Amino acid sequence: MAGVTLLCASVDKIRNSWTNANPSRRFLGCGRYGQTNACNVFAWHDPKICDRARQVIPGLIGCISRYEDELEKRKKKMRLLVWFLVLSWVWMFAKDFLGFENGQQHL
Ligand SMILES: [Zn+2]
Repeated sequence: MAGVTLLCASVDKIRNSWTNANPSRRFLGCGRYGQTNACNVFAWHDPKICDRARQVIPGLIGCISRYEDELEKRKKKMRLLVWFLVLSWVWMFAKDFLGFENGQQHL
């Protein structure tokens, strides 16, 4: 989506609000909000959402966040398991190739 040049010459895109009061509601706001010489323009792009959606969407966002956290934990665990697997292959190869058995090397 193309940016919009505001009065203070900041260029901003339409963004999503993720507050509980306005979840997923798009708005256009000054990119220099709060800074000196900012125009502080703010306007909603989407109409106000209904009360039911305002109740449900934050819960859904929380569910997604928890699933993403769990997915990240499982990815870390999977990477660790892959490392153990690779190390076990290296150990098996070294054991067979170098003739180690029961901690003793056969010459
Ligand atoms: Zn501005």
